[in-house]
Order: sequence, then C-alpha cells, then structure tokens
Amino acid sequence: MSYPIRPKKSLGQNFLVDGNVLHNIAEALDLAPGDTVLEIGPGTGVLTELLQPRVARLIAVEIDRNLAALLRSRFAGVDNFTLVEGDILEMEPMLLAGEQPLRVVGNIPYYITSQIIFHFFDRRRNLVDMALLMQREVAERIAAGPGDPDYGILAVMSRTFAEAEILLRVPRTVFKPQPGVDSALVRWRFHDRHTRTLADEGLYRRLVRTAFGQRRKMMRKSLRDRFNLEALAAFDLTRRPEELDVADWLAMANALAAAAPARP
Ligand code: SAM
Repeated sequence: MSYPIRPKKSLGQNFLVDGNVLHNIAEALDLAPGDTVLEIGPGTGVLTELLQPRVARLIAVEIDRNLAALLRSRFAGVDNFTLVEGDILEMEPMLLAGEQPLRVVGNIPYYITSQIIFHFFDRRRNLVDMALLMQREVAERIAAGPGDPDYGILAVMSRTFAEAEILLRVPRTVFKPQPGVDSALVRWRFHDRHTRTLADEGLYRRLVRTAFGQRRKMMRKSLRDRFNLEALAAFDLTRRPEELDVADWLAMANALAAAAPARP
C-alpha cells in the first residue's frame, strides 16, 4: 500500500489491495449517474475512487481520524464527494442523504457486520439497495433458504425486507493485512412486498428471534412461554423454525397481532 497507514485491527482494517477485485466490485454494483451512494468505511479510498466518478453524490463515513484526514486531502475539491467522520452505527442515513433514495456500499469492518446490517434494516425507508463485503460464512447465512443448515434470523429478516444474493466471492489473499477468513459481496434489494401486509413488525421480529433462539425445538415448545399459542391454532407448530419461509412467519405474526394477548 502506498500510504503511511498502520492498519488498526480494532477497527477491522483489512484493506483491499487487488485492482481486479476492486474493479469487479465496482462493476457488480451496477451504479448509475443519478445515484446517491453511502460508502461505509472508505479506508484509504481505493473503492471510493472507483465509485465517485460514476455517481451523482458519494457520502463516505469513516471512523478513523487518520484515514479521514487522508481522504479529505485525497478528494479535496471533488464536488460530489462528502466525508463524514464518525461511527456508522450512530448515523441516520436519511439525514445524510437528505431524503434521497440511497444506495449503501462498503467493505465493512467484520467485527460489527450484524450491527451494520440491522442498523440499515431499521432505517431502510429510503434505501434502494445495500451491497456489503463481509465474511463469507455470514454471507452464506444471509443467502440461505428454508431447510439449509445456515438458515436463521439473518436469512429470514433479509428475505422479509429484500431480495438478497451473493454477487461475488472474494478470497482472503486480496486484503492487507490478510484476514483469517474468505469474503463475499452480498446485495440486498429492498422492497416492501412483505412488510406492507405486516401488522406489527416488532412482534414479527420477536417471533422469529424466539423461535430461532431454540432452533432444534418444535415451535410449540419454543414459543409457548412468550406467545399466545391459541392464536396459532391454524399452524402446524410441530415444525421447527428452519422449515418456515417468510410467508409462514408473516402469517403467524399477523395471527398473533390479531388475537388478544393470552398472558398479562
Ligand atoms: N474500504 C477500504 C478498503 O476496501 O480497503 C477499507 C475497508 S476496512 C475492511 C473497514 C473500514 O471501516 C476501515 O477504514 C475502518 O477504519 C472503518 N471503520 C471501522 N469501524 C467503523 C465504524 N464504526 N464506522 C465507520 N467506519 C468504520
């Protein structure tokens, strides 16, 4: 790397050093000239410099003060580039983008992968899509379907809010320092096809979390302490959560929402 930067492990700093992979990521994002893009963790700006010329506006959020200083000078005078120094988990994407439809991208710090995903799921109102490079095992869990051993909360929530797919698989050798795991680029294309029929999103999440909290158990057992099983009489609760798809979860959550709570 040509920058005097000592990578900080504590901030998940594994920099991409392969020009082909960077090019492939930028191509896979399918950017358009009118897009507003939020990049998480631009680092030294290796991906940023490929994205910025292709879009209307690029907002980059970097927590590391030294890297933020480097980026400010690297992109000085570039009109469509804005650097925001701080923690992505404290940012409101809607405020950053000024209510514009927003596309989120990033080679993210792996130690906060789930937090980042759920932070944006919770703030998806103006999100078009989100493409994140992450640990490959996590990517496989997101892309899993019912019956797959990896199918769990990440997959169900991803399928509830979006179409999720793995766009690229990236070996560990293209990062510096080299991480102990391979990576993959996942993209979620958000839609409200499922959530617009959902009566209570909080209840839906509690239901899915509770069931997968004891994924080997029949739902009759894992749900009985927290939910009104009478409201679920029409469902086969001898099934295990890994057998259910989004349509089943939605129907169960709506049945619970429609019924009076069984327990005070
Ligand atoms: N995009 C660069 C690349 O591909 O080489 C850097 C990727 S590195 C895996 C992750 C980046 O996220 C680092 O620059 C790190 O400082 C930054 N980062 C770590 N935690 C962050 C946080 N909470 N908010 C914003 N950026 C963060």
